[in-house]
Amino acid sequence: MGGRERAQLSMRIVIDPMMCDGHALCEAIAPEVFVMGADEKAHVADIEITADMLAAVREAAMMCPCQAISLGEDDRGQEESER
Ligand code: SF4
Repeated sequence: MGGRERAQLSMRIVIDPMMCDGHALCEAIAPEVFVMGADEKAHVADIEITADMLAAVREAAMMCPCQAISLGEDDRGQEESER
């Protein structure tokens, strides 16, 4: 039994592939969270975002030259945007 505790945060990270220009700045800032794909776009790794990753995630979102990264508190599931 592992007594492993993690601060589990319900943060939603979305990268808009239409806006991402593949600078990989986000990956340089938070390599655990952002990974570049073969499509030369950033993707969000399938991991739990822990409290100590948060600052880097926020910094990456701020530093993204294309503003392709959106962060949201996942307090209400997904919102369907307009079609
Ligand atoms: S920093 Fe922004 S534009 Fe660059 S790879 Fe990351 S999401 Fe894409």
